[in-house]
Amino acid sequence: MSNTHITFEKLNLIEPLLKAVAVEGYTKPTPIQEKAIPIVLSGKDLMGCAQTGTGKTAAFAIPILQLLSTHKSHDVGQRKIRTLIVTPTRELAIQIGESFASYGRFTGLKQTVIFGGVSQSSQVKALKAGVDILVATPGRLLDLIGQGFVHLKNIEIFVLDEADRMLDMGFIIDVKKIIKVIPVKRQTLFFSATMPQSIIALANSILTNPSKVEVTPQATTAETIKQELYYVDAGDKKRLLIHLLKDSNITTALVFTRT
Ligand code: AMP
Repeated sequence: MSNTHITFEKLNLIEPLLKAVAVEGYTKPTPIQEKAIPIVLSGKDLMGCAQTGTGKTAAFAIPILQLLSTHKSHDVGQRKIRTLIVTPTRELAIQIGESFASYGRFTGLKQTVIFGGVSQSSQVKALKAGVDILVATPGRLLDLIGQGFVHLKNIEIFVLDEADRMLDMGFIIDVKKIIKVIPVKRQTLFFSATMPQSIIALANSILTNPSKVEVTPQATTAETIKQELYYVDAGDKKRLLIHLLKDSNITTALVFTRT
């Protein structure tokens, strides 16, 4: 593998980030990190084709933390939001927020997470206290912008995460509204697991001369697992499942469903 000898030190990370990565127990960057970190540090736009599980969160969080730490804001007074990460689900938002907290623990930068489905009061309180980095789902973000609790005119870096899921979930109009209220002059990082035409069109509309990075997922199916596929009418699914589970060779089973 190409990244056998690459270390985080070789990526020119600053000490507070190297220390945090060591605390996490990471010994070397994953392929997406090795490719994306130098691009983000150089200030370029990025179009990343990568799934969850590849280490893509650290691939953008670590260099963003470095850029924010080394290019200090000239503003005096309260912290202004300098980086916005938009992601489709609350689970992803929480995970990304935790990643920024972990990797940024020695930088002194502050982040918060906002998402819908819960009371906004603690989120508003965190925003009022001032943050450098905001992780958000689209609906709650627009809601709090509308109420005047979020100001995005100081955004330097914008990340659109899981863009394909965002479109699948019907967030395209929300995303376009968000793009309209952030500065045109900014660095944009765009991540999607798949790159159909609709995603490429969206990427082209928000990125400027991006570098492209693609990684194939490291996860492959275990060879010890035999896989079978049954084509069945939706109405028969439950009966087929019960029939299969009656097989006495099956002592334990894990059933995945869509929701
Ligand atoms: P992600 O693709 O961002 O969801 O990350 C998947 C998992 O990989 C997370 O649990 C991270 O903590 C972990 N991870 C990220 N970067 C590294 C690394 N360089 N070495 C080991 N684990 C990592």
